[in-house]
Amino acid sequence: MGNISILDTNWVGRPHSIAAALLEADGHRAIIDPGPESTLATLRERLHARGLSVAQLDAILLTHIHLDHAGASGSLVRENPRIAVYVYNLGAPHVIDPSRLVASAQRLWPDTLHQLFGDTLPVPKENLRILEGGETLTLGTRKLEVAYTPGHASHHVSYFDAAEGIAFVGDTTGIRIDNGPYILPATPPPDINLEIWDSSFATILARQPSRLFLTHFGYADKPAEHIQAFRRRLHHWAELTAEILRSASTEADAKKTFVTRAQEEMQEHLGPEEADHHAFTAGLDLSFLGLARYLRKRADATA
Ligand SMILES: [Zn+2]
Repeated sequence: MGNISILDTNWVGRPHSIAAALLEADGHRAIIDPGPESTLATLRERLHARGLSVAQLDAILLTHIHLDHAGASGSLVRENPRIAVYVYNLGAPHVIDPSRLVASAQRLWPDTLHQLFGDTLPVPKENLRILEGGETLTLGTRKLEVAYTPGHASHHVSYFDAAEGIAFVGDTTGIRIDNGPYILPATPPPDINLEIWDSSFATILARQPSRLFLTHFGYADKPAEHIQAFRRRLHHWAELTAEILRSASTEADAKKTFVTRAQEEMQEHLGPEEADHHAFTAGLDLSFLGLARYLRKRADATA
């Protein structure tokens, strides 16, 4: 079995925003989603607090390659070239050469990219272990099943620890902080696809996990209820986006209206302070852009 710990990366000074998971079993140490490079110092402190250092890490398991999950990988490997980095095949080229990934992030965060994510270094090809989905990884005494779970991103996998009953789902089941009362989607461009997402929910539910581990943030109980509530909100937000796109005069107006409406909804459930924290962690403007892109792609496909 072994230990599983939440390492709070304290992203831009915000606790309970991005969680890395430390998996220890029989001397094997792996991190699922080490977070962005900007929080590397905090990650190091969290390891030190457990008597560990980067030199003792054996593996990094990426759920997907977005910078808030994977950005620190290159720096960690530079420090400890022994680390194996597991990533889904579609994501691998962008981990080896992050220039396109960083360029597209630069368009989404023109002014704040570096402050948010730091420097995203490449991971040497020989450190990569390329996943197709369907593998069972052996990490010390721990077995982890890998399953392909697209929807949020085309390069997203989830990891299942059957012995512990935990599904490490990255962003596949949304954002819910500390098992809180509100689950919100993170739907950034360019891969959002609600139909494909449904198959990933089925993939997760078929494993009957007793808990989900969300990058944003921590454990969520009752996976079936969580996923049902999340799916409802995901579709509700897609409908809200469609409605706003029909009536707004410009894309900028549409985005503003979406963010306001989503924030109002969240405040009803969470109060103003927690609503702000959830909104920051999710990036509501990006969620609008991703849903708008998905809706247009779908409309073009049926036209
Ligand atoms: Zn994320």
